[in-house]
Amino acid sequence: MKIGIISGHEIIEITRGFEEITVETRYGKVDLLVGNYKDKEIVFLNRHQGNLPPHRINYLANIEALKLSKVDSIISFGTVGSLNPKIKPGFMVIPDDFIDFTKNRRYSFFDDSRIHIDMTDPFCPYIRKILIDSCKELEVDFQERGVYLATEGARLETKAEIRLFSDYADIVGMTLVPEVVLAREKEMCYGAICLACNMAAGIQDSLSAEEIKRFFNEKKKIMSDILGLAILKVENERNCRCREALKEAKL
Ligand SMILES: [Zn+2]
Repeated sequence: MKIGIISGHEIIEITRGFEEITVETRYGKVDLLVGNYKDKEIVFLNRHQGNLPPHRINYLANIEALKLSKVDSIISFGTVGSLNPKIKPGFMVIPDDFIDFTKNRRYSFFDDSRIHIDMTDPFCPYIRKILIDSCKELEVDFQERGVYLATEGARLETKAEIRLFSDYADIVGMTLVPEVVLAREKEMCYGAICLACNMAAGIQDSLSAEEIKRFFNEKKKIMSDILGLAILKVENERNCRCREALKEAKL
């Protein structure tokens, strides 16, 4: 059993001493870092592969590369804007649902067959519980539920969009979809933890990419502590149904 970590930034506390490998997939090449963190085998993926913006990420290649590397559990990390006044900058959110407002991505491995995977609970409950327990143990400010609204990018949201989104979602980001969907199609467990870096446009006066970057740097340590603890909790035995997601999905 290998654990995949997906992040937009390298997390050196986890990946120190890891080996760089390149995996060839039918969708393109993907660079990964592989190694051990304590007694767990880890495959680390920087989803941006260099510096690709969210709307140009090759999500199919990324998820396929993890699958080919024998990953069966994914912990994904991303930064988000908060739409919910209760989620202040610096809070962690472990999403339990999503809304997809992306527009121009490839969303499925199944373009030639009628496979419709169940998304009633898009995030693996087993990985979610591990992330919740890790946040509790480390006493970080977090919310154990939240609806993630995915936008296409590269631009940030308008005020009118934020008004609309705020009625239905708690956080907004650009990378979780289709990642979570593709992981389910490959029958991998996928859970995410998101760091709220700012209140979204219209809720807070101004935002800059620089601000978000600075904020992330301040929070790096706690992020790697959460991931480090969560990794150690992942065991092979679990009671979720992610590993048989395709069983009843074919028409
Ligand atoms: Zn699962």
